[in-house]
Amino acid sequence: MSAGPAAPPRPAIPPARFAKRLERAGDVAGDAGLDALFIGAGADLRYLTGYEAMPLERLTMLIVTPGRPPWIIVPRLERAAAMAGLRTPIEVVTWDETDDPYALANGSGHRRVAVSDTMPATHLLRLQVAAPGVTYSLASAVLGDLRMVKDGDEVALLRLAAQAADRVVAAIASGPLVGRTEADVAQEVRDRLVAEGHDRAMFAIVASGPNSASPHHEASDRVIAPGEPIVLDIGGTVGGYGSDVTRTLWVTGGDPAMGPDEPFRHLYAVLHHAHGAATAAVRPGVPCEAIDAAAREPITAEGYGEQFIHRTGHGIGLEAHEDPYLVEGNTRGLAEGMAFSVEPGIYLPDTYGARIEDIVVCGPDGPIVLNELPSELIVVDG
Ligand code: ZN
Ligand code: ZN
Ligand code: ZN
Repeated sequence: MSAGPAAPPRPAIPPARFAKRLERAGDVAGDAGLDALFIGAGADLRYLTGYEAMPLERLTMLIVTPGRPPWIIVPRLERAAAMAGLRTPIEVVTWDETDDPYALANGSGHRRVAVSDTMPATHLLRLQVAAPGVTYSLASAVLGDLRMVKDGDEVALLRLAAQAADRVVAAIASGPLVGRTEADVAQEVRDRLVAEGHDRAMFAIVASGPNSASPHHEASDRVIAPGEPIVLDIGGTVGGYGSDVTRTLWVTGGDPAMGPDEPFRHLYAVLHHAHGAATAAVRPGVPCEAIDAAAREPITAEGYGEQFIHRTGHGIGLEAHEDPYLVEGNTRGLAEGMAFSVEPGIYLPDTYGARIEDIVVCGPDGPIVLNELPSELIVVDG
């Protein structure tokens, strides 16, 4: 047996970065007048420590106190997993099945505490019972600013993920598609995402014919026919960081008469222009809502305004959807290093729809598009 060529080393977040993030988290919490951050299993915990804890009914919780070393509460049976998962040395305090971990957490007499946004009610309500005098708020108010701006290693992972997903779109677009069910194609997408280096596939929207008018269509048993579009919106994670790419295909089944009809060509041309305009508007200082407006204006001018039924984009990182959101009303200015989707869509109910989605990083003087696929309509013969 001979070893194959060594896989190129995957970029990773260096361990020292986690200590820095923890220190900054403590600083911003202190600046916000908080006594502590309570961080349960989830993306905040992974961001701060590297530990991807299983979300359980048993409490796992990192406690960040300004000016003091952070520590983490874990159930005894999770201790080994925590020790293996934590990328930075912090004190691990275990609790046994008959202990009350909530009392343990509140033992320091905190008054103002921010909890991670995804902490389940079952934990937060018990924390409130254990320490009735504490005022709770959401940790995203302080951690959001940190997580939104990606460092070079995070961008490298987002880029790897984007390009791996691009290869999957290209493979699917090489067909065959006609005669297969959406669900069958979605399974191929999931398998290919993993084969191309994703840790896991997270979603595979395969929306054919009239289903393409439903932005979050669940791949079904519908059989793909010649002469219709398919909205393909796929993603997974690489090193915890997400891919999320959408391309719209048109399948002809090899019959030139089954190409895109004139109304669809027009719809797609408008969408393509809007996507380009929104991407080109990205630069530091531009409000998030201005990127949404840049996509929406040309679509509205062509009479499709009512058919663009979602925001233009969402931040992406350790979560598939996170700050910043590109939506009317979000006046936050873009900053260098922010990463988000730009994904306008036009949906004609019961007829068809289209969407184009790339992941974009705000560069020092303009957009850095991580996806490399052309954004034109992809006409598929098979
Ligand atoms: Zn979506
Ligand atoms: Zn998407
Ligand atoms: Zn998206």
